[in-house]
Amino acid sequence: MMRAKIVCLNRNDPDEELIKEAGEIILNGGLVAFPTETVYGLGGNALDPEASNKIYTAKGRPSDNPLIIHIASWDDLEKIVKDVPQKARLLGEKCWPGPLTMIFNKKDIVPEETTGGLDTVAVRFPSHPVARKLILASGGFIAAPSANISGRPSPTKAEHVIEDLADRIDMIIDSGETDIGLESTIVDFTSDKPVILRPGYYGEEDIRRILGDIDVDKTLIKNDNSLKPKAPGMKYRHYAPKGDLTIVEGERDAVIDEINRLVKEHSEKGYKTAVLCSDETKDRYFGAEVISLGSLSKEEEIAHHLFDVLRTLDSRKVEIIYSEAFNTQRIGAAIMNRLLKAAGHKVIDLKK
Ligand code: AMP
Ligand code: MG
Repeated sequence: MMRAKIVCLNRNDPDEELIKEAGEIILNGGLVAFPTETVYGLGGNALDPEASNKIYTAKGRPSDNPLIIHIASWDDLEKIVKDVPQKARLLGEKCWPGPLTMIFNKKDIVPEETTGGLDTVAVRFPSHPVARKLILASGGFIAAPSANISGRPSPTKAEHVIEDLADRIDMIIDSGETDIGLESTIVDFTSDKPVILRPGYYGEEDIRRILGDIDVDKTLIKNDNSLKPKAPGMKYRHYAPKGDLTIVEGERDAVIDEINRLVKEHSEKGYKTAVLCSDETKDRYFGAEVISLGSLSKEEEIAHHLFDVLRTLDSRKVEIIYSEAFNTQRIGAAIMNRLLKAAGHKVIDLKK
């Protein structure tokens, strides 16, 4: 039976009474899924250890994978972190409110349940109007990971949240599709040099342009399982569709020929196959379900569609999936980070 109350809130003018009701659920230790500009979040009171425990249980998330605390004012940042380095302030001034998460040393008020036992804390100041109003109505600090069952693609529509969590949480706020569709960029400010732990809408070059010298977590660059990522969540398999997904990389015509060949081979064996591609190439595939993520000249569109398409593959019960690579100019690193995880890093590289 469905437990969650589902409410529709206008993105730009949400009903104040319903925001208040949602805020009270969180203040009383309950869980509310809500829209942000990145993906839907599963929110609980970040300062209440029991609420954080409930989030891990609802998602089936390992409890060593820390949650991001969402705030709605700069003043509230000082209440939960020990110090804000000058460079973090500079980056925050450019990118907050928005799809950026920063890691700081935490104050004692933040329970270890929320930070997965770490003495650092991840903080984000989202720009989505519904998220901002909800945070303020909930006491100012919402711990929120993506509102999906652990391992599944992150939710970009309320329907995705309903699919995964309707019988496990108290309320789901539906404000339509999220804007960006990929999770936030994470930058760690707890060592001497800022380090990018997860690429997102803001890429390496965007951050470097603002901060100058930065590092990028090595596990994001090298596909080496012996390296331990600094963001604990990055070590887990994620986003995976139920079907077997392989990325085929190389020169465009060669990729198309190889994917068509592989599709033919597997279809003949009776498998249900699909191809993930772009508007530019979609007419050149045959014999499979062909799904375009959008035009390569509109990388925002590709990012926006990725998780929804990964879920569609499941609902259509596709067994074998081949995807083109999407190394687009700016968000390409973030798109490929998610796609590689979804594929369990299975890549056929035709350049080799
Ligand atoms: P999600 O909210 O599901 O997008 O996941 C949050 C991500 O932030 C995970 O990859 C976490 O491991 C990472 N994260 C949260 N807190 C910290 C922290 N204190 N240090 C490093 N990474 C963190
Ligand atoms: Mg997540």
